[in-house]
Parts: sequence; structure tokens; C-alpha cells
Amino acid sequence: MKQLFVGGEWREPVNGGQRDIRCPADGSLVATVAEATREDTVAAIAAARRAFDEGPWPATPARERGALLYRVAELIERDKDELARAESLDTGKRLVESEYDMADVAACFRYYAGIAGTDSGRVIDTGRADAISRVVHEPLGVCGLITPWNYPLLQTSWKVAPALAAGNTFVLKPSELTPSTAILLMRLLDEAGLPAGTANLVLGAGAEVGAPLAEHPDVDLVSFTGGLATGRGIMGAAAATVKRVALELGGKNPNIVFADADFDTAVDFALTAIFLHSGQVCSAGARLVVEESIHDAFVDAVVARAERIRLGGPFDGEAETGPLISEAHRSKVEAYVAAGVAEGAVLRCGGRRPDDPPLAGGFYYRPTVLDNCHAGMTVVRDESFGPVLTVETFIDEDDAVRIGNDTDYGLAGAVWTSDAGKAQRVAGRLRHGTVWINDYHPYVPQAEWGGFKQSGIGRELGPTGLDEYRETKHIWQNIDPRPQHWFRG
Ligand code: NAD
Repeated sequence: MKQLFVGGEWREPVNGGQRDIRCPADGSLVATVAEATREDTVAAIAAARRAFDEGPWPATPARERGALLYRVAELIERDKDELARAESLDTGKRLVESEYDMADVAACFRYYAGIAGTDSGRVIDTGRADAISRVVHEPLGVCGLITPWNYPLLQTSWKVAPALAAGNTFVLKPSELTPSTAILLMRLLDEAGLPAGTANLVLGAGAEVGAPLAEHPDVDLVSFTGGLATGRGIMGAAAATVKRVALELGGKNPNIVFADADFDTAVDFALTAIFLHSGQVCSAGARLVVEESIHDAFVDAVVARAERIRLGGPFDGEAETGPLISEAHRSKVEAYVAAGVAEGAVLRCGGRRPDDPPLAGGFYYRPTVLDNCHAGMTVVRDESFGPVLTVETFIDEDDAVRIGNDTDYGLAGAVWTSDAGKAQRVAGRLRHGTVWINDYHPYVPQAEWGGFKQSGIGRELGPTGLDEYRETKHIWQNIDPRPQHWFRG
């Protein structure tokens, strides 16, 4: 099974291992893919190292690198139907959502194609006639890229596109649950003409196949998107070789609704904020923080609509959201809901698997609302990463901000109000990397994405997202060297 891409060649894993990929919507077999070992990752790192040290990619003019990334964007658009279908089969996500994601993947490659080479550093006035000084950007080296299962190709493109734009080589390790679109992407990079060894792919379990990317001395940067506990381990493993670490971890994101917000719009977005992709979104608005005076009416309205959400598989045109990624993940979500109820939360809806027989083969879980919550509860503090909305209540602006910031995470949040000043004040005081005002979830590749506090280190997207993948060097040159005679003796 030749599905590892190493040094420009498709290879089998050294031990010939395999893994079945099953669709979370019905358990059907989607593919059987290669399962690599630590040895395969080490071989991929060696290929990436060679390609970095010997070129030609790092020395390719930035504009040419950009031209290749434009070609990749075009190939993604050409193959968008195949990519979207593969993504939906792996994740169980509705096809229409995968189609949006593929458009975003192409846009990401286009964005970094456009900014490759636009910032060629700066020249500094030394104040002297005999010296010149320049600050330049250089590629960083070999990047280890580790990605999760919730937006497989999109999270991958957020790393691959800037890493290539900056002139690096890389080894990609996608989630073992959703490898299909990573394999397809490698084919497209190859077709676009990327030099052999620049892009390398290994498939398999994190602890075996991913871990060497954090540990190996020949990797210069490990860029990881995934859960907090895994991120902490990667940061620790990277310390031994003092490699660069970029972490995009989870979030426990407050969606703050003031009484003066447009009621129906805020209700509508409160649902999208948490139930999109069944809550398996790092920026999901999992904490509804609502002003006391509208609490009852608002929560009633959210619950009434949550109860009507239709679950279904990727190709069910009536479905509004899909299954969870795995049985193990559903069990984790169930445990969080049980813990919430045990700690005093009031279950208003959901809290169970659906009873529709056609959904029995998938890992579905009903949209769930837990009322009477507070920030001390496990279900509020931890990321359940499922369709579970907790409700907290505030009495005034200071209280809303205090509750919204009462989390170890700091990825995203939202504020709903018709008072323009209050919107800006609250947005300014929230300690989260993205804050939406009267909206939820939109992002643009031009703006940085990343977390405060334990949600991560560094930024993805935006012009400074590129900085994660390059070194910045100051070059000073004396252009008229002569003896200085500091010491006469
Ligand atoms: P995860 O941490 O279990 O796995 C993520 C990746 O890390 C996978 O490829 C996995 O195989 C790999 N991995 C696991 N153990 C490893 C190890 N010891 N060494 C190296 N690699 C290892 O996360 P997940 O369950 O796949 O994804 C869900 C998590 O991702 C959620 O917590 C979510 O919030 C987070 N996430 C964050 C963002 C963001 O932008 N901040 C985006 C998407 C997902």
C-alpha cells in the first residue's frame, strides 16, 4: 500500500501496516490506508532535511514559490468535488460543509501565493558611510506539521501553504482518523511541480508516527493543531532540541448575549455557534453567557430550535449537522454531560443518542443544552468538543467580561449587543484571539488566527502567520573595513 510520500516517491510503510478508515455517519469502510511507524517518520525527516539542505526549494525565488502555490490552488479547484467527497466520508461532515471547506483551502493557498516574496525585509540606516545593515527573512528549515480530524484539509493547508511560501520543506502527519485528503493533496503538490523531498507525508497514530516530529533534532519547527494535552506533550518533547513550536490548541469560547441584542438573530447564531459540525470546532461557542433579564426567553428559544435540529450523514440533503468522529469521542462527550448534570446543571434538551433507526450505525449525539451552569463545572472548563451548550448568566457588563475571561483557554468569543460602544468595550476586554461582534464563526485568511493563554502559541493565517515559518536575520556589513586601533599598545 504505497501511501507514504517520502523524497518524492510513494512508499509502503516498513512494516506493511494498515488501518481501516470508517465513515462516522454509518460505520461503512471508506478506505484501508497505510499505517507507518517511527522508522518511516525518521526516513521522511531525512528526506525533508536533504531537500532543505541541498535545495532547490529554499533557494527558489519567492515569486516562483508563489506561482507554484497558485497552481496548487487551481488544482484544488479542479478536484474540489473529489476532495470534498473524501473529506465528508472521513469526517461524516455534510457534503455542503466540505465544499465550503475546499473553497477555503484554495483561498488559503492563493493568499500565501500572493504574499510570498512581498516582504523582502528592510534596510537600516547605520548612520555610517562604511557599513550597511539589512534585515532579511529566510526559510526556517524542516517543519513537522501535525493536524487534527475536524477540518482535515483546511487545518493542513493553514500550515502547508505558509511553510511552502516561506521556502521550507516539511513532513506532514494528518490525523489517523482522516488521512484521505492529505494523500490527495500530496498528489496535487507533486503535479504542481514541487521538487522531490519538499513535501513528505506519513500516516498513522500520534504517539508512534507523530512524536518523532517533535523530538528529532533534524526538525526545526513543529506546528501542531489539536488538543491541549497533546500540545503540552509536544511542547515538552520539543524542548530537548529547542525547536520552534507553534500550537493551535482548543478553546472554550464564550458567546455573550446582552439584553439589547437583536433577539432572533442572537438565538439563530447561538445555535450555529455551537451546533455547526456537531460542536467539533475549536472556536465553537460552547458557553452561552446571557444577560439575566432575557435568560428564560432566550434559553427557551434556543432549546426549542435545538430540539428540531435534524441529524444525518454527508449526503442526506435534509441533514443540518452530522455525527461525532468516533465512538470513543461520543463516549467522552457523554461523560462530560453526565458530569455536568452531577455538578448541578439542568439538562434542557439532548443529552442522549438519537433514536431514529437509520442513524443507529453512526456516532450521533443529540444537540444538548445544559442550563444553570457556572465556570467551576468541568463541562464548562473543559472542551467537550461536542454538541453541548452550557448556559451561564450575567448581571452587567463587568460581570459578562469576568465570566467570558474565566477560562484557561483564549481562542475566540463573541458579543451580541445593539450598543456600539458596549460592543467595542467588551470586545476590547475579552482575552481571546478572535472576538466577533454580532456574528459568529467567520474568518478571513488575511487576519491572524490563534489563541491567548492555553489556546496556543503563535498565529496561523494573516501576514504574520508566515513569520512562524521563517527566520528573520539581521545582516550587518562593514563595506570599508580598516584597522581601528582601539588599542594602541
Ligand atoms: P489530538 O490532540 O488528539 O490529535 C491531533 C493530532 O496530533 C493528530 O494528528 C494526532 O495523531 C496527533 N498526535 C497525538 N498524539 C501525539 C503525540 N504524542 N505526538 C505527536 N502527535 C500526536 O486532537 P484531535 O482530537 O485530533 O483534534 C481535536 C482537538 O483539536 C480539539 O481539542 C480542538 O480544539 C483542536 N483544534 C484546534 C484548532 C485551533 O485552531 N486552535 C483547530 C482545530 C482543532
